[in-house]
Amino acid sequence: MSRAADAAGAPSTSPPGVLPWLAGPLADALRHQRGHALLVQGAQGAGQFEFAIALARAWLCESPASGRPDGIACGHCESCRLVAADQIHPDLCVLLPEARHLALGWQRPGDMPDGGDTKRKPSEWISIRQVRSAIEFSTLTSGRGRLKVVVIHPAERMQPAAASALLKLLEEPQGGQRFVLACGDATGLLPTVRSRCHALTLPAPDSVLAARWLADAGLPDAAALLVASGGAPLAALERHALGLDAALWSKLPALVAAGDPQPLQRLPMPLVIESLHKLCHDAMLAACGVAPRYFAAGSVPADAAIERLVDWGDALRRAARHAEHPWNAALLVESLVLQGRRALRG
Ligand SMILES: [Zn+2]
Repeated sequence: MSRAADAAGAPSTSPPGVLPWLAGPLADALRHQRGHALLVQGAQGAGQFEFAIALARAWLCESPASGRPDGIACGHCESCRLVAADQIHPDLCVLLPEARHLALGWQRPGDMPDGGDTKRKPSEWISIRQVRSAIEFSTLTSGRGRLKVVVIHPAERMQPAAASALLKLLEEPQGGQRFVLACGDATGLLPTVRSRCHALTLPAPDSVLAARWLADAGLPDAAALLVASGGAPLAALERHALGLDAALWSKLPALVAAGDPQPLQRLPMPLVIESLHKLCHDAMLAACGVAPRYFAAGSVPADAAIERLVDWGDALRRAARHAEHPWNAALLVESLVLQGRRALRG
């Protein structure tokens, strides 16, 4: 079941299948629907994909509109069930990079890497083959006699040839077909694709609703983890699943100041580097007398040496380029923590 569908079960007042902080923007989008293509932008981990699916689900919902407040999907008709549970709705085409299928809980039996090679690393890109499948989908008659919807996420991860092929589809839409392109960074999209879409920017998630949702999902000290994740609830959930909880986060400044890399060694390298980067960022703020953004006030040393922080930040950026394949992960973590220690000690 997808994360969007998981949200349906979350004990909150949000409509079924809708993450609580997305309910307001979703109602607005449904009320002011314009054009056949929508470009949804939002911060990483804020729920753009879940928003796109909730929108598609609402458009495809077969319950009478009069019984659905704000036009949001009912969550129990056959169409809603097909989207949420089996993900085999005949009038919904979802394009994701192979690498995102599993992470987003959107994996169908037929979702094989291009060419069927299961040993190959899953692609981080949306291929021309996938866009061609959407073009083929657009030529078919609606399976349930209503609209057809194509969801693409993250749209900025379309290969150039794939984006060009999509452009043709956006320029000559078939009747009764809608597109939702969800993305974190619209500048990565072809300007010609952007110009054919109605842009919608998601507001930052409401922190109270998001923290409550995380607490309902079983995260202790959810508010702290939400701050650690820049206010992005799905990013907080993902970090927690990877082993970064609020207790470790609160200890991180002291661990680095003491030069102790041990508790970080069990985390994936990209997460270690990102976490150290946030500490470096907050130490820079603290050194300038500004309140930290990701860590609790007072937990970050305020007397770090700016030049050493700059060097540490550069080393973290270099390490980030090879974070997926470090030559020696344990040694790299140790080296980055020791460099952080020197910087934090001023
Ligand atoms: Zn429905």
